[in-house]
Amino acid sequence: MKIKSAEFIISNSDVGKCPTQSLPEYAFIGRSNVGKSSLINMLTSRKSLAKTSGRPGKTQLINHFLINKNWFLVDLPGYGYARVSKSSKKKFQKFITNYFEQRKQLVSAFVLIDIRHKPQPVDLEFMQYLGEKEIPFSIIFTKADKLKPKAIEKHVEDYCNNLLQYWEELPLHFITSSSKTIGKDEVLEFISDTNDE
Ligand code: GDP
Repeated sequence: MKIKSAEFIISNSDVGKCPTQSLPEYAFIGRSNVGKSSLINMLTSRKSLAKTSGRPGKTQLINHFLINKNWFLVDLPGYGYARVSKSSKKKFQKFITNYFEQRKQLVSAFVLIDIRHKPQPVDLEFMQYLGEKEIPFSIIFTKADKLKPKAIEKHVEDYCNNLLQYWEELPLHFITSSSKTIGKDEVLEFISDTNDE
């Protein structure tokens, strides 16, 4: 898929105020600093469509971008940032779960994982939640340029083996690097294959 247009539409913390068009939607989520904004900018070939933040945990909003006038890319807030209070964590959880449970046009979520890290409880819990709610998702491993090819293979294999303790079937996964433009075509192809508009 070629991205011909990418427009910011709206940011909010209320799923009720998300765009009303029922265009297919793909949501990107992961721990703060995982490389989500960089990935969105790589996918859309825009330098700063999503704001890469020096202040993790600050962008606590649902951001809708209209792509090629026929699907929405949704940038969701980073989770698992240690320095937010318990009450703001709860509020955050609520609006994110509202989003996932109410947004019927969501085709798939992408859970971003830093390829260097072992499975973290917060990510596993989140994937567990998506599984329980039957929300389709894939994993996007980020920052692949930080590892050599052999190490990439090993980290992905270890990660998947670890997931098999909890899951009978593995979600689809993509290996990406925004710094080296790796995995862009594969993710866009998946979106165009599953988007029947
Ligand atoms: P976000 O908080 O998840 O939106 O993450 P950002 O996109 O703002 O990136 C967080 C940090 O990781 C920044 O310092 C980026 O430069 C760095 N980063 C993001 N993607 C990559 C990547 O593919 N490779 C490398 N080496 N660094 C990356």
